[in-house]
Amino acid sequence: MTLEELESAAKECIACRLSEKRRNVAFGDGNPNSPLVLVGEGPGDQEDQQGKPFVGKAGQLLNKALADAGLSREIVYITNTVKCRAADWSTGKPVNRPPTDDETLTCRQWLVPQLALIKPQVILCIGSPSAKNLIKKDFKITVDRGRYFPCEFARTAIATLHPAYILRQQSPTNDGGYSLLVADLMKAWEAAQKLASKPPRPQAVPAALIE
Ligand code: SF4
Repeated sequence: MTLEELESAAKECIACRLSEKRRNVAFGDGNPNSPLVLVGEGPGDQEDQQGKPFVGKAGQLLNKALADAGLSREIVYITNTVKCRAADWSTGKPVNRPPTDDETLTCRQWLVPQLALIKPQVILCIGSPSAKNLIKKDFKITVDRGRYFPCEFARTAIATLHPAYILRQQSPTNDGGYSLLVADLMKAWEAAQKLASKPPRPQAVPAALIE
């Protein structure tokens, strides 16, 4: 199966209840041949409307950070652990909520083959929920951000701050962690390029190989 065929199949998915209210499946965006894949948590309102990950306010900040890191959406591949918007509709108006563990688990039926087809050298988890899903359950963003970890779906994975978190933290005197996001993007891209030029090893890649 090709990535395009997988995406077409995902767009018809009704495997969890998030399919009931979604407008579009936000499968992925960018360069599927990139050595670096960014994985966030899940789509919000704008992503649901446009069927692409990271196109709302947080996405605009991510675009800026990519540009400041010398990158762009056309150079990397961007996706989410869950492909449909999770929202609470109890008041009649949708309010974004984190995907449940069940929804996240169910949606791995798309994320796992997606990553297997792309075969990235490095996965950069955007935010703690993605890192808990792809790196380790007890991932702590304050302790583990910017560190390399073994990953089942790439030769290594690291995690950075979510741009939505940065937007909430920013003030006239504080960049909210924006400079860390830019630094982590640069670090992940550098590692991805280095690893792409080295033959795969049977064992997980130690940090020494890429530092
Ligand atoms: S969130 Fe994932 S598993 Fe649930 S309906 Fe959407 S594509 Fe299917």
